[in-house]
Amino acid sequence: MTKLIFLGAPGAGKGTQAQILSQNMGIPHISTGEILRDAIANETPLGLKAKGYVDNGDLVPDELILDLIKDRLGQEDALKGWILDGFPRNVSQADFLRNLLQDLNQVCNGVVNLDVPDSVLLERLLSRGRKDDNEAIISNRLQVYRQQTAPLIDYYQQHQLLINVNGDRELSQISEELETIVKS
Ligand code: AMP
Repeated sequence: MTKLIFLGAPGAGKGTQAQILSQNMGIPHISTGEILRDAIANETPLGLKAKGYVDNGDLVPDELILDLIKDRLGQEDALKGWILDGFPRNVSQADFLRNLLQDLNQVCNGVVNLDVPDSVLLERLLSRGRKDDNEAIISNRLQVYRQQTAPLIDYYQQHQLLINVNGDRELSQISEELETIVKS
């Protein structure tokens, strides 16, 4: 399994786990959040458009993200595999991705849902100290997650791609389980 989507609430640890797994597998880790934060730091046209949304914990409009994903998955290093972290974030992005993968003749092998209780998410987010991690913005990000992203759990269940993983454990236990899944 080398083409995976990581789903999970903010603070679920998907960025960390996606990074570890992609390194071990030698495949690209594609984080839309990271791409946006870089663009904002470098004040690129994308960054300037995205900044207000990211700072508030809202999703950036789909049109800022879709072309970017299309370009990235079309690059040569993406042929052997990828881990998508933070994309898709809503049903329309998921539909777009399904069509894109068909066009690119690629198949997503699974969608890992890192499951973490709300109380743990809050604790983790408050201790992380990222600019979009203050209390009001965190609560907005969790609400945006529940309204727009959580429906993807059912979406991928229906497409028989969902793999639930308990994310409320030691980091290394989770990475070990993920490696087992990937190698199965
Ligand atoms: P993340 O690092 O995945 O938590 O993303 C940080 C922020 O970037 C989010 O709160 C959104 O503002 C924005 N973002 C990241 N990925 C997406 C996406 N696929 N669609 C829309 N906005 C996104």
